[in-house]
Amino acid sequence: MKWSLVVPCYNEENNVRRFMEICREAIGDSMSYEVVFVNDGSRDNTWQKLKALHEAYPQCVKLINFARNFGKEAAMYAGLQRAEGDYVTVIDADLQQRPEIALDMVRFLDANPDYDCVAAYQDTRRENKFISLCKKMFYKLINAACEIDFKAGASDFRTMRKTMVEAVLSMREYHRFSKGIFAWVGFNTHYVPYVADERLSGKSTWSFKKLCKYAFDGIISFTIFPLHIATVVGTVMSIGALLYGIVVLVQKLAFGIDVPGYTTIVLLILLIGGLQMIMLGIIGEYIARIYIQGKHRPVFVAKEYIDSKTEE
Ligand code: UDP
Ligand code: MG
Repeated sequence: MKWSLVVPCYNEENNVRRFMEICREAIGDSMSYEVVFVNDGSRDNTWQKLKALHEAYPQCVKLINFARNFGKEAAMYAGLQRAEGDYVTVIDADLQQRPEIALDMVRFLDANPDYDCVAAYQDTRRENKFISLCKKMFYKLINAACEIDFKAGASDFRTMRKTMVEAVLSMREYHRFSKGIFAWVGFNTHYVPYVADERLSGKSTWSFKKLCKYAFDGIISFTIFPLHIATVVGTVMSIGALLYGIVVLVQKLAFGIDVPGYTTIVLLILLIGGLQMIMLGIIGEYIARIYIQGKHRPVFVAKEYIDSKTEE
């Protein structure tokens, strides 16, 4: 097997058939390939559509059916586990990422043995300016806080050699932040710009709130700088308190007891209380992750695997 395409699917009933057709048209007989579809607990007829695809193309379609919706990260992880190709591509089912580009990625790896991965990044985005700006700021922040390098706009749409896939699978964390995992394992990655097409059908599952949570998860998973904030803020406030203490003491010795200052005291109590709560919350986020990871729960639960049939 030369090439595997891993395709996470959540409510993609109107897209999977077209996706498969485009793959077949693009690849033709140029190489042997398999498409690993992961049905991530879809609430529509995606699973039935996928089974029909397996019946139509039993040699090159593999299916995984999750017991519920576990999220795209879990779906990618499951797909990568089942992929048997020397090259493995992660690609969305909604045709926002074109299979032809994935084929170019495979050809690039074939021609350049020094590279282990070709990843697409979005140079220009067809999306809300505010969200684009937030994404830019996220990359600035995480790159400043983390020793590994995050390529701005890099997506999960990428093709890897088997060795890199094995490295990605060897990272067994429960909270999977693939952008970080791909960057963390290293390997020689070639980045190609691309502009995402419109979704063929259906809606993106990413709301602004979900994006914020994803960004927050990424920062907590790959950096510990939020924990340092407590140390820095605590130090600055202690120095401030010490200096102010000296001022108050001198005032008291020179001018006697000065009662006014109620507003300052209330504001300081509120400020310090708020800051302490934020810091506790941040520490809590890390502890929560240790707690969940400590339970060693599987990243996903699959209720069905349907393998491709080999030609007799
Ligand atoms: N997806 C998934 N599980 C989810 C959400 C999304 O497997 O819980 C899949 C979805 O079917 C698609 C890919 O992940 O193939 C990207 O999702 P989407 O198009 O919603 O994200 P966007 O393209 O807006 O980043
Ligand atoms: Mg999409």
